[in-house]
Amino acid sequence: MRIVMKFGGTSVGSAAAIQQVVSIIKHWARKHQVVVVVSAMNAPHLRTTDTLIDAAHAAAAGDSAAAADAAPRLLDLYMQAARELASPEECQTLEPQLRAMFDYISDLARSIAVLGELTPRALDLISGQGERCNARLIAAAIRSAGVAAEALDATDLIITNDQFGRALPRMDETRTHSTRRLQPLLEQGIVPVVTGFIGATEDGIPTTLGRGGSDYTCAILGAVLDANEVWFWKEVDGVMTTNPKIAPDAHTIAALSYVEMAELSYYGANVLHPRTVYPVVRREIPIRILNTFNPSHPGTLITRDGGAGAVKAVTAIKNVSLITVGGPGMLGLTGVAARIFAATARAGANTLLITQASSEQNVCLVVPRSESAAAVAALRRELAPDVAHYDIDHVDVLEPVVVVAVVGSGMRGTPGISGRVFGALGDHGINIIAIAQGSTEYNISLVVADQDGDEAVRVVHRAFALA
Ligand code: ASP
Ligand code: MG
Repeated sequence: MRIVMKFGGTSVGSAAAIQQVVSIIKHWARKHQVVVVVSAMNAPHLRTTDTLIDAAHAAAAGDSAAAADAAPRLLDLYMQAARELASPEECQTLEPQLRAMFDYISDLARSIAVLGELTPRALDLISGQGERCNARLIAAAIRSAGVAAEALDATDLIITNDQFGRALPRMDETRTHSTRRLQPLLEQGIVPVVTGFIGATEDGIPTTLGRGGSDYTCAILGAVLDANEVWFWKEVDGVMTTNPKIAPDAHTIAALSYVEMAELSYYGANVLHPRTVYPVVRREIPIRILNTFNPSHPGTLITRDGGAGAVKAVTAIKNVSLITVGGPGMLGLTGVAARIFAATARAGANTLLITQASSEQNVCLVVPRSESAAAVAALRRELAPDVAHYDIDHVDVLEPVVVVAVVGSGMRGTPGISGRVFGALGDHGINIIAIAQGSTEYNISLVVADQDGDEAVRVVHRAFALA
């Protein structure tokens, strides 16, 4: 079997964590062809990518000392870990490589400070250095543990467009490059350790795939290498039925479908972003979410069909605002919905939920609370003429409220699910302010008052025996 597996920043955030990662790789590489993708070290006191990005911005503002100060601290972080994890010979080879990288960053920062300008291209060059260091460090640690491994920069593997900061892969070229470089290593039983997050244009100019982009790297490589499975090692046992801080009886979901994963990622559950894993989802490659710090736990398996069960999870988005636009003249007034959403978008507010009953007397939308004031102001401006004509008589906001989402693809075509949701909430005296369900029937979203949010989650969690 061929497995592409990614370790996130926290999973490689300290020498002890990397030690754990090495033993996981050692275990699996004995049985399977394993390709490893790594993030930069996300150490609690020194988050590599954030530190590099901050230093780059500081340089653009004229402060080149910020990078000159960050570089040795980062070098120290990686070399200290190396001394714990890798043989003295490995450390001797590693140290000048990493030093050269950080010197390069300091030089770059000085040029940025002189120019007084940070281009997206330069930012990508700087922000991706952590992954380059970490791939080398982890490959050295794996070799020191007696397993053949080789560090590779994804700039040689993943070919992207030139949208710096959020580059998109060119899959055909990426397949050619990745297969050519990685296939021979895999055939010789060597573990490739690939940098997450970065790629390069056809001309070899480094790019990044967006923040958190290592997941994307893993999915891209999984797809182009025709992996049998793609694994994401995180610091949780998998996807949970709900937030355990709200419902202590929450537990890991054994099996999910791709659509359920996509629904859940929307709600801040610690899940994969649907855009990010699209390359493997499209090819229907099974995904696992596993825990670096509890590796014997089976985690969550995500496939096209998912497991049984109508409702899989209940989630809550807190601190959101319900905006209502209503009035007697809205019935049959065409174009008003378009204007409402256009105004909200112009205000930069992200709409999380929309409802309108067929009486057309009002339209409700939910936006993050931090965006509601701007959205309401934009709506009042946009709709002022309609208010003057008495077509619209209010643009109100209720905040904070909570959106509770009940997710599961088995709800589709299963009668009675919403009845059970509403019945359970009603039995507990919880009032529902607004409701939305898309016609895919994968998700029922309810708006409840702030003080009812946690109880609503617990009640629904219990009603579907998710506990
Ligand atoms: N190191 C990058 C970031 O922090 C990529 C990643 O961790 O996935 O955004
Ligand atoms: Mg990360």
